[in-house]
Amino acid sequence: MLYSKLAQAYSRLEATTKRLEMLEIAAELLRETPPEEMERVIYLTQGKIHPNWMGLPELGMAEKMAIEAVARATNVGKEEVQGLLKQLGDLGLVAERLIQEGRVKKLSQKPLTVREVYETLDRIARESGKGSSERKIMGLVSLLVNASPLEARYLVRTVEGRLRLGLGDMTILDALAEAFTGSRENRGVLERAYNLTSDLGYVARVLAEEGLEAVKRVKIVVGKPVRMMLAQRLSTAKEIVEKLNGRCSAEYKLDGERFQIHKKGSEVQIYSRRLENITYMYPDVREMALTHIKAEEAIVEGEGVAVDPETNELRPFQLLMQRRRKYRIEEMVKKIPVTVFLFDCLYADGEDLTLEPYPVRRKKLHEIIEVGPRFQITKSLVSSDPREIERFFDEAISEGCEGLVVKSTAEDSIYRAGARSWLWVKLKRSYQSKMVEPVDLVVVGAFYGRGKRAGTYGALLAAAYDHENDTFKTVCKVGSGFTDEDLAKMPSMFEEYRLPHKPPRVEALIDPDVWFNPAIVIEVIGDEITLSPVHTCAFNLLREGSGLAIRFPRFTGRWRSDKSPEDATTVKEIVDMYKAQLRTI
Ligand code: ATP
Repeated sequence: MLYSKLAQAYSRLEATTKRLEMLEIAAELLRETPPEEMERVIYLTQGKIHPNWMGLPELGMAEKMAIEAVARATNVGKEEVQGLLKQLGDLGLVAERLIQEGRVKKLSQKPLTVREVYETLDRIARESGKGSSERKIMGLVSLLVNASPLEARYLVRTVEGRLRLGLGDMTILDALAEAFTGSRENRGVLERAYNLTSDLGYVARVLAEEGLEAVKRVKIVVGKPVRMMLAQRLSTAKEIVEKLNGRCSAEYKLDGERFQIHKKGSEVQIYSRRLENITYMYPDVREMALTHIKAEEAIVEGEGVAVDPETNELRPFQLLMQRRRKYRIEEMVKKIPVTVFLFDCLYADGEDLTLEPYPVRRKKLHEIIEVGPRFQITKSLVSSDPREIERFFDEAISEGCEGLVVKSTAEDSIYRAGARSWLWVKLKRSYQSKMVEPVDLVVVGAFYGRGKRAGTYGALLAAAYDHENDTFKTVCKVGSGFTDEDLAKMPSMFEEYRLPHKPPRVEALIDPDVWFNPAIVIEVIGDEITLSPVHTCAFNLLREGSGLAIRFPRFTGRWRSDKSPEDATTVKEIVDMYKAQLRTI
């Protein structure tokens, strides 16, 4: 397959502002992709070379090096390349322009293939050690000298880790369903396989090679992260007990980071809620997993929480976030120790437990874990009495937890990978008539600041995620709650996500000064949820011509870097919160 096919599709994707059109272009590209190229095409289109969780070196060549490569490939001085970069604002466009002007002396007219591009990019990403910069540069040069102007645009962006076509996983699944089964209705089957393996390329290849029936047979594998099961929320213990028909087990909801731990013999991988491979950040947890998990092979889940090294008391989430770093890890292990509280077991020694009811999984967890001071199992209470659960809730709060997660113990209480299901219901400090519980929103645009905020943003346009059609819908403009430090870092923090037009997956009626590709998630609290004609969240759902908005929104200070945009609060949850609010007034 020729890389020019990809470049042409990318240029069409980049030009569209409509999601449906985006989907059609993607489906057309996938239809024309031979099965053996499928994984490469999917990852390249997402701007990467492997699923993130593999923890392999990623693309992201420093700009200085990419400039050097463009200069060498086109026989132009570095200063000229830098000058053009200032003018055009994107090195991809610079490379495109220079090649268009015929600055490359072509030795041969060898068209680039997808395989060659993929393998070269993979090599570039993996180069390390002495002389690696030079080898990386020459790798890119070798592609550019054979590239058409359009191909050069995307090669440079890809190598810099800035392709950003805005195709979400769900849109790719829709496109695959459309391309290979003729109907988007089959997305559910694909989504299930994806939820179990988190590997879009793998699911696509199985589909293209063996068809939909084979996709239905896909199973969980130790080493491939399972997309995490999530909780719904209700505001009282009574409602929860009713919802779960009295068959429930309440557990402490710890305020830390979710860990999915995979153990295979002496190998351990730890995945975050966003399915990043975070094993290297938590060598202490890795060690504990080796000594405390008695099964040879297992997948268990729990929450890692920062603890006070002297008193062993639970510490806040923000402190744990300091463990999210690439350097000086050993120092942080000592400074901010972590205790893991396990709550689920998905797999143990050849047994896939995801379709077993929760009590069976929990029993298995007790069997395979040798509890230690820093490797524990969450405290739980099996009860159908709301008052008893409320007392347990108060106890959890007083011990530094966020509240409870109440889980169904019924026969159908399976592990619903990737789903926010009613089998788990969280109870945080109640939001009564007012909105007391924060939401996680995606930043999709911003308004320039004035006065004291000149030079940065005055307010951010924030959106909820609509899982139904994989889009982002606005719910508020948030301008308060930001510290001077937050404000100062905002322009550079958002720079790489800026787009000249509305991102195709964003639905908005408001026109901000700048648009951003949905990427950064912030926690926002407001006074209440109200009907609003200017926001698109649940538009026309509750009232013709109105959507839902958060009134008096404030940033809580939490940048939720542990969440991907698709993990943000959903439109449906905002609707539920609005309805709950009505009930309690
Ligand atoms: P939040 O922002 O409230 O943590 P979330 O969107 O990250 O919500 P939810 O699935 O809604 O995730 O809430 C459950 C989260 O709570 C889990 O992802 C997990 O990280 C954490 N958690 C803490 N204790 C437990 C527990 N005992 N059982 C399940 N999840 C728990």
